[in-house]
Amino acid sequence: MKKFLRWFLLGLFLLAVILVINTFRFSSRQLTGVAPAPPVAVGDSAVDRFAQALRYRTVSFTDYSLTDTTQFEAFGAFLKRSFPLMHSRLKLETFNRYGLLYEWKGRNPALKPILLMAHYDVVPVIQGTERMWPRPPFAGRVDGGIIYGRGTRDDKGCVMAISEAVEWLLKGGFQPERTVYLAFGQDEETLGKRGAEAIAKAFKQRNIDLEYVLDEGGTVKTDGIPGLKKPVALVGISEKGYVSLELTVVASGGHSSMPPPQTSIGMVAEAVDRLQKNPFPARLDAGLAQMFAYTGPEMSFGQRLVFANDWLFAPLVKRIIGQTNSGNALIRTTTAPTIFKAGAKDNVLPIDATATVNFRILPGESIASVTKRVKEVIDNEQVKVTVMSASSTEPSPLSDPDDPAFTKLHRTIKSVFPEVVVTPFLVLGGTDSKYFARICPNVYRFSPMLTDEASIPTIHGTNERMPVDDYRNMIRFYVTLIRNSQN
Ligand SMILES: [Zn+2]
Repeated sequence: MKKFLRWFLLGLFLLAVILVINTFRFSSRQLTGVAPAPPVAVGDSAVDRFAQALRYRTVSFTDYSLTDTTQFEAFGAFLKRSFPLMHSRLKLETFNRYGLLYEWKGRNPALKPILLMAHYDVVPVIQGTERMWPRPPFAGRVDGGIIYGRGTRDDKGCVMAISEAVEWLLKGGFQPERTVYLAFGQDEETLGKRGAEAIAKAFKQRNIDLEYVLDEGGTVKTDGIPGLKKPVALVGISEKGYVSLELTVVASGGHSSMPPPQTSIGMVAEAVDRLQKNPFPARLDAGLAQMFAYTGPEMSFGQRLVFANDWLFAPLVKRIIGQTNSGNALIRTTTAPTIFKAGAKDNVLPIDATATVNFRILPGESIASVTKRVKEVIDNEQVKVTVMSASSTEPSPLSDPDDPAFTKLHRTIKSVFPEVVVTPFLVLGGTDSKYFARICPNVYRFSPMLTDEASIPTIHGTNERMPVDDYRNMIRFYVTLIRNSQN
């Protein structure tokens, strides 16, 4: 017994040594010694132009016939007036009338071009919430150092800051070595098929090989993330896919006085129940592991110990993260029954019953693999499973955070936001850049704006706004990024 105890203690000691060695070898991936980006003197006229941009009601509706195309037309004309150099030196091409693609030819054709993306359509203001906006959502008002309006954050801020950066560089005589493309979509909020998808198709047809793509997605989160209470720059390296499946059972119906053991409702209900009781497996390799590699070394010793030894702690980490709904969405394909339709009268057996279940697909899986697993879990041939393909998208492959393109972005972020921890992460929503994942391995999703727990709900919500100083810094970011991307 004593001998066993001695071996046991020795084993424990060795384990502790391994854990501690791994923790000390778990070194920071943050770039250090990055020189601060020089200031970019943009006058008040830039802020005024941003305010004007917010006055166009470029609202996207799922039903395209509701779109006020005159607003999109007018916004394009406004960009032309506001950025004369950009419109005289860059080539502008339109896609489905309002999708805008600018090409700023570089001097060196051997260098792959870069693509900066943003979108100028916005979501509607929900009826009845207008009075909750201290300034009207489409008035474009600047008060006390704050710019108010729908689209300040999502995503006219990026459209305008990119344009200001290009105009400013042109004014200073800057000529890029590497071609710079700008793509401004008109329908990101309704899947981006008219804008971003059409533009991506053109890139594919023309065989344009891109160095990297930068679109919206993550931000600088000033109040940190769970486990790291420091400002964190979240750079999306992938986004989840989307599919809704319809589960249908057609039965013969009849009178409810002599029912079969299970009606069509019962069968569909059982299928839904099985899906909820058998969630998709949890995985850390779809963005979270990369995030831990960047954020882990910046955490306290105890947390560092956990993330440095994922070979031991992965099951525990998965269990802890999976406890919240938002954490759960990061580690698995989620299952959400959203619509149930069946029955018409209380004494009549229903003929058909249908449930719609929405899945957000983790990178590494696919619409086909999700559908296959759903059929296996339901395990009932009477339940017909149909893919609702119009709205479905595959998850994006992971962009490599070790690629030099990521380093350029990392360096630029550090030079504009010196105090932040830069990290890759998985975007849970969808962005226009998903269409470029097919043609470029380096697709990054990051807007150079400051957000926190309080400002995030204003995106797509009420009282969307941005401090003037933050906006100025966005312009500085894009100027710096274009300069840093020239070699
Ligand atoms: Zn957006």
